[in-house]
Amino acid sequence: MALGLNVPQPEETCSDQNCPFHGSLSVRGQTLEGTVASTDMDKTVVVEREYDVRVPKYDRYMKRRSRIPAHAPPCLGLEAGDTVRIAETRPLSKTKSHVVIERVGGDD
Ligand SMILES: [Zn+2]
Repeated sequence: MALGLNVPQPEETCSDQNCPFHGSLSVRGQTLEGTVASTDMDKTVVVEREYDVRVPKYDRYMKRRSRIPAHAPPCLGLEAGDTVRIAETRPLSKTKSHVVIERVGGDD
């Protein structure tokens, strides 16, 4: 299935309906990179992003963190500490409207 994004197809397959590769989930918008902070929930990971925010008053940068719950398709085999790429999708639950589309780095 073509995502319309330049990401590799996972090596494994899965039968998750909400998998952007093997199910019918479509993604949109820009992608974000982050680190998997938690894999405690079933098929959901928390992706943490650190970014710099400029404070105009002081002309300096401040570090901010955001945590985004994202759907984790089983075929990606994600673990805490992995660097992943996520994309926006339709709301999958009350708090989830992103899906992991690529495992960029981490231990194998
Ligand atoms: Zn899949």
